[in-house]
Amino acid sequence: MKEVQERTILLHDGTTIPHGLVVWSTGIGPTKLLQSLPFPKNRVSRLLTDEFLRVPGTKNIYAAGDCATSEDENYPATAQVAQQEGKYLSYSFNHIARGKTPEPFRYKNLGMLAYIGDRRALADLPNVKGRGFATFLFWRSAYLTRLVSMKNKILVLFDWIKASIFGRDISSF
Ligand SMILES: Cc1cc2nc3c(=O)[nH]c(=O)nc-3n(C[C@H](O)[C@H](O)[C@H](O)COP(=O)(O)OP(=O)(O)OC[C@H]3O[C@@H](n4cnc5c(N)ncnc54)[C@H](O)[C@@H]3O)c2cc1C
Repeated sequence: MKEVQERTILLHDGTTIPHGLVVWSTGIGPTKLLQSLPFPKNRVSRLLTDEFLRVPGTKNIYAAGDCATSEDENYPATAQVAQQEGKYLSYSFNHIARGKTPEPFRYKNLGMLAYIGDRRALADLPNVKGRGFATFLFWRSAYLTRLVSMKNKILVLFDWIKASIFGRDISSF
């Protein structure tokens, strides 16, 4: 899409799509803090890290999650990457504290699950491909097991139950 004007969406080929309401969901961007850091970054301002998730040229500055990516491979900005990197860093720091050298970080792509609304989801995992209501139930189970704390598991579960009975609550107070 090239640009959105009032009542018209202009595509690169010059075609326009008439519309009444546009809900624009743009991508995430780097924070000002990240932009101001004097370390090597890629073209979308993510910090580049070596195989130990260290900022190159520094001894003990590490970067993980959305704010960083590898020098060799562009990791997606997803919770899956952030969680694996977080686990790796706890392993790595414990190793270093014991005077050992940690293994390099290896990202393992576990696949993709996405909710597409109306109690339907998509699954694109190494051994499972699916769509529809059954995949939605699978997505919700996977989601719950991946939440880190028991508190969040309970909060999210009750939120789903509440939303299924009363509908989604969009009020903020
Ligand atoms: C709408 C949306 C939907 C998403 N859906 C999915 C999905 O379905 N699956 C998936 O895998 N990923 C999804 N993601 C991406 C996922 O949320 C991120 O990849 C993940 O949260 C990255 O974790 P992080 O710890 O790097 O960053 P974050 O979770 O963003 O945590 C960064 C933290 O740093 C804090 N912070 C920022 N600046 C400062 C500062 N100056 N001082 C102190 N603290 C600061 C922030 O408040 C925040 O708590 C989604 C993201 C969005 C926005």
